[in-house]
Amino acid sequence: MERIFNFSAGPAVLPVEVLQRARDELLDWHGSGMSVMEMSHRGKEFMSIAAKTEADLRELAGIPDNYKVLFLSGGASAQFAMVPMNLLRGKTSANYVSTGEWSRKAIKEARKYCAVNIAATSEDANFTYAPAQDTWKIDANAAYVHYTPNETIGGVEFGWTPDPARLGVDMPLVADMSSSFLSRPLDVARFGLIYAGAQKNVGPAGLCIVIVREDLIGMPLAGTPTMFDYKIHADSDSMYNTPPTYPMYISGLVLEWLKEKGGLEAMEKINIAKAALLYDLLDTTDFYRCPVARQDRSRMNVPFTLKNPSLDEEFLKQAKARGLVQLKGHRSVGGMRASIYNAMPLDGVRALAEFMKEFADKHA
Ligand SMILES: *Cc1c(COP(=O)(O)O)cnc(C)c1O
Repeated sequence: MERIFNFSAGPAVLPVEVLQRARDELLDWHGSGMSVMEMSHRGKEFMSIAAKTEADLRELAGIPDNYKVLFLSGGASAQFAMVPMNLLRGKTSANYVSTGEWSRKAIKEARKYCAVNIAATSEDANFTYAPAQDTWKIDANAAYVHYTPNETIGGVEFGWTPDPARLGVDMPLVADMSSSFLSRPLDVARFGLIYAGAQKNVGPAGLCIVIVREDLIGMPLAGTPTMFDYKIHADSDSMYNTPPTYPMYISGLVLEWLKEKGGLEAMEKINIAKAALLYDLLDTTDFYRCPVARQDRSRMNVPFTLKNPSLDEEFLKQAKARGLVQLKGHRSVGGMRASIYNAMPLDGVRALAEFMKEFADKHA
């Protein structure tokens, strides 16, 4: 078996142990004689998988009892609409922090449902930093504050959690945590709602995990489709309709893997070490450049450019020959991007750093 190192931003690498276990259980899950894909979502086998997945997530992320955990389809992109539809609760505006491609998409969608106050933006520097909280200009009558803790495309990560109370307002904080969820410890109680598409750091595409404080749901905007109402999903334990059962099962295996690895504190240590390998290299040669402000650099997505872009093709070709793939940067940024989520082993990042150093030495 030949596994390559896959630096894709998403769908992304999964732990090999998880894939092996899924393979072993593919045809016959725990003596049921069925694949998880073939099970009724309301049968006792799948109900036990769903319950364990939720319990493990609650344990790992320390989710308080007054929060609901929802397993939804529609990706993180559906949440761009579901958040305003459910959290406006009679208000007519919402605060958004604009730090890159994903927050802009969230803002564009929210504008269909309410007035959006851009509380802060890093557009002045091409979205290469996270605006300090004391610069945010909050609309105090708005329903919530939305931000993107990790901008997957730009590689900008907030190393801190905003606090609306420190801005003098009492409103829920909403986070699109798609590309940094479970990469570091998390204090759920500081958020009103967290959502994360699974295909970056948790599992396969097709599943979006939503963690929402109970008191915030149940007052959707008039005309909200049934499938877009959090309360409907919460009241039926995400079984109002058929949930994405196989992605839930694989995500459950990833959560077990995370627990075996020592949980989120242990994961954070490894993620810090992995990111440092790349950023240290980027900072010690002028062959490569990282556009992101030092203190706001993402531990999950590392964008960089070659000083001489005419070497881009050659870089990608040689990397691929070494089994290092999916390093081409997003079309909106150019250059390269290495996504190094939880499931990317330290060895993969080492191999990339070694290759980058050799390539720089050869072509300097
Ligand atoms: C990938 C991503 C999305 C979109 O996710 P889909 O599941 O494709 O809808 C949204 N926000 C962030 C931060 C992402 O990384």
